Amino acid sequence: MKLRRSSSFTIAVVILALGPACSSNKTEREVAEGARPNIVFVFADDLGYGDLGSYGNTEIATPHLDQMAAEGIRFTQFYAASPVCTPSRAALLTGRYPPRTGIQPGVFDPESLDGLDPAEVTIADLLRDEGYATALIGKWHLGHLPEYLPVAQGFDYFFGTPYSNDMNAPHYPGEEPPEQPCFVFDPECRPGVPLMENGEVIEQPAIQETLTKRYTDKVIELMRASVARDEPFFIYYANNFPHVPLYASEDFLGRSDGGLYGDVVEELDWSVGELLKEIHALGVDEETLVVFSSDNGPWLLFATDEPVPQGGLDSGTAGPLREGKSSTFEGGIRVPAIARWPGRIPPGRTEPAPAVMTDWLPTFARLAGAELPPELKIDGKDIMPVLRGDGRRDAEEGFLYLQYRQDEEVVGAYREGQWKLKTAVQRGESSYTNYTHDDLLFDLEADIGEQADLAGAMPDRVAEMKKRMIDLAADVHTNVSP
Ligand code: MG
Repeated sequence: MKLRRSSSFTIAVVILALGPACSSNKTEREVAEGARPNIVFVFADDLGYGDLGSYGNTEIATPHLDQMAAEGIRFTQFYAASPVCTPSRAALLTGRYPPRTGIQPGVFDPESLDGLDPAEVTIADLLRDEGYATALIGKWHLGHLPEYLPVAQGFDYFFGTPYSNDMNAPHYPGEEPPEQPCFVFDPECRPGVPLMENGEVIEQPAIQETLTKRYTDKVIELMRASVARDEPFFIYYANNFPHVPLYASEDFLGRSDGGLYGDVVEELDWSVGELLKEIHALGVDEETLVVFSSDNGPWLLFATDEPVPQGGLDSGTAGPLREGKSSTFEGGIRVPAIARWPGRIPPGRTEPAPAVMTDWLPTFARLAGAELPPELKIDGKDIMPVLRGDGRRDAEEGFLYLQYRQDEEVVGAYREGQWKLKTAVQRGESSYTNYTHDDLLFDLEADIGEQADLAGAMPDRVAEMKKRMIDLAADVHTNVSP
């Protein structure tokens, strides 16, 4: 009954406000250099900022991701566009704030009759039009009804779950609804999360112990097929883990000093290692951009020091950051982000400047030579100059964090440079009014853990930031998906 229960506490959604879209055309520098790289985007679910060795974890061994960071770029301020799954994924795939895409405040569940509007343009739509083979391996969570599935949203192929791995009772129109919606926390809950291939359910409940291995095999199979056909590929590999319930295969069970949670993350790390090994074996290292990130922070509600059995609940860590999933403190949205592209991304760099999940769409579009859809406002920026190490992200304006409390939209925080105003104003018909929170002001450069509130000492800064925050908040409700 997890999601029922979760509606009683704050479901927060963060949106990062950015400026107008960058233009893109096929004469741009990357394309002139013959870029059009293959792109593998690996998206972990609920992996915390502090869960990888390269981000300071000492219990969970992640040698492959650490190696990937050593061979590429590691961001220390990369932001998911939301602290929960559905809006975060919508923002990644569209490059737009969740309100523009019409995505509901919280997450979709097996009873949702809605999904990402197919009129939205996804990364897969853009790249497929440029001749890329496109696939989603793993979790979708942007609508499980046929008209919203990945194969209707630019993906040639889909193998994975339509929503989270803790959602157990799918309800399709025309079927009897379950007597009571249930989630995996209830062992009586059936029939369990489905595993789908394109539009068909092929296994239910999905055997979660072997998901990571099967996903890995699928990604490798697709890469081989595309290389054999000499076509570029975009593979969105959205592994279901370490979202609870946690499952590792036999090879990884009991292996990590970080308990079952560590086993699961170590298997995910192994999976990325297998992909990198295959990319090398296929001879396409220098033609393949690999990105690794997470959709939101760790689900601290389930954190435990007790031993956790297969299928159990536990959480990772946000490291030095405050709070985790669902929160607009940094732990909810600042996530690991690593990118590797030998010959294009210089090795061994740590990037301290902020970047945002919506940036991947314009970045990938430009690399592929795709035009951005002129009718849609794209909020992300092309960050290839940052990846290359010879330029900055083309925006210094603030980030806006929107959160939702029981279907009510609230502006939760606003970021400008080193400053973060953590506050809350409620969105009304035509204006914003103060919500019930006190204003908090943090200097994230000096205080990554958001412990020292400076609002009392800097009232003018608070007032100025609040004004700009409200202006930005109004903007994200324009250019909304039909
Ligand atoms: Mg998630």
